[in-house]
Amino acid sequence: MSGLTTPTAWADKTEQTLRKVRAAMATDQERTFKAHWSEDEVREPLLALLGPKCWYCETTIQRADVNVDHFRPKSDVLGETGHDGYWWLAYRIDNYRIACKHCNSGGARFEGKREGLAKGARFPLVAGVRAWKEGDDLDLEQPLLLDPARPGDPDLLGFDTFGYARRSAAPYSPAESHGGVCRTEETIRILALNATQITDQRRELMEEIADLAQMPGPLAQKHIAKRVRPTAQWSAAATAALNLQRACALPITGPVPPAAAPPGTATFTPTPAPDRGRRKVNLKDLLGYLDPADLAAGITLTGRHDKRELRATLLRDGKISVLGRGWDTPTTAARVATGSDDVNGWDFWRLTVTGVEQSLGEFRDAHEPPSTPA
Ligand SMILES: [Zn+2]
Repeated sequence: MSGLTTPTAWADKTEQTLRKVRAAMATDQERTFKAHWSEDEVREPLLALLGPKCWYCETTIQRADVNVDHFRPKSDVLGETGHDGYWWLAYRIDNYRIACKHCNSGGARFEGKREGLAKGARFPLVAGVRAWKEGDDLDLEQPLLLDPARPGDPDLLGFDTFGYARRSAAPYSPAESHGGVCRTEETIRILALNATQITDQRRELMEEIADLAQMPGPLAQKHIAKRVRPTAQWSAAATAALNLQRACALPITGPVPPAAAPPGTATFTPTPAPDRGRRKVNLKDLLGYLDPADLAAGITLTGRHDKRELRATLLRDGKISVLGRGWDTPTTAARVATGSDDVNGWDFWRLTVTGVEQSLGEFRDAHEPPSTPA
């Protein structure tokens, strides 16, 4: 977003529209938001920043499907009854993100079924204080969704070698640990960042980078440079593949510094810091308390929603399989299973260990390590 200025004539025009919005709100009339965000004088500079690609999923956008998304939704906030939306940010360029149709309004698919809720009017918080009116401090909000325009957020999105978006090696934030939720996995769920349409091609790109990185000569370097530049499709995945390749090529003599990556792209960290918040968000530290034979077979988790019993399977790597997809965190797995944005997986899922049925939260609490000084 840096370097963007608001064109004066456009600002004057939008101020007039906003004045009408304010007047409508004062008299309880219906508001009309003219789509000034789609006008060339702002959309073209936004597109010039990263090229014609979606800032969320990094897929190249073809012509008409270029949407200018309001990161903070302008007319309402899903799940916040009575919220009028962040109407006062409707014409703020720093609230705009270029988005593809799938990320903005849905339509992504996995194995023939619709997947992802799309951003739309979603703007959940992981913690902090919600802004309700003009003048409220936006810095007090801690958004759940990763923001492609916020320093640090893109680094939380990593990729495995199969082309799937995953959380990077970054430790969980205190807000994530407290809420038992992973911002990256929630972003993957809501925006369907692992939809079938892109994972296969992303994997092929990463394999290509791995091959090119092992080839000597300037031609291979030139092809790599083309694929990792920030304007290239899925450049974060390409950069992750390159960093992984470089890290693997180094002799193991100690901590390895990550290779330089273009700003705003994901990085591979070979030696992550110990993550004290992890056991509040995922199950990896708890697997040792389960029977290895049961885990190898897959442990059934059950949960009730809308008078129905839903099932998932806990796998030996700590992932929870729901509808053919593996998720790292109980909360996102529960939200996928129920379709609700407002479920905590640690309370929702239940399992039976040595004949005792309990929630995942109860199971976790029974195996908390003795507290040690931080
Ligand atoms: Zn997208």
